[in-house]
Amino acid sequence: MFFTHDTEEALGFVAALADTLPTASDSGEDELTTTAQLTTLLDAWKYSGRRDGTEQELAEVREARTRLRELWLQDRDDAAATVNELLAESRALPRLVRHDDVDWHIHATEPEAPLARRILVEAAMALVDVIRSDQMDRLRECDADDCESVYVDVSKNASRRYCNTRCGNRMAVRAYRARSA
Ligand SMILES: [Zn+2]
Ligand SMILES: [Zn+2]
Repeated sequence: MFFTHDTEEALGFVAALADTLPTASDSGEDELTTTAQLTTLLDAWKYSGRRDGTEQELAEVREARTRLRELWLQDRDDAAATVNELLAESRALPRLVRHDDVDWHIHATEPEAPLARRILVEAAMALVDVIRSDQMDRLRECDADDCESVYVDVSKNASRRYCNTRCGNRMAVRAYRARSA
């Protein structure tokens, strides 16, 4: 395992959230425009705690999506500043919790706190881990020119360039065509 389980889970969620953007989604459309789409995403990640299911909540999560995508691509020092900002503005208070079938892990907000705030703080706490262990360069954006999907590079020598094999193959074909043209 690269990071602790809860950090990996949180990073996975942030990537999934960021990848609902039209420049990164499979459909090429914004996949976070309805409260139903938000519910589907949260269910897929077994996201616990308060959910309002309102347009207001959706708007806040969409804003969090923008902020977290920016944070994902920041260099280490800037990311550290952003993380501190996020933790301070949410008055994060880390504590160990155990709920449902998840063993001891960190929460830094109350389960009743608004969803977007919990998403931001959970991501910030995961980034604390990433920055502290000097692994910020593991948080990547796909190298394909027409794809802005993000992912965590857990390869041995940090050499992964594409979000998935489809992007890798597509770019290989393109490079081959360019060479033989
Ligand atoms: Zn939890
Ligand atoms: Zn890609």
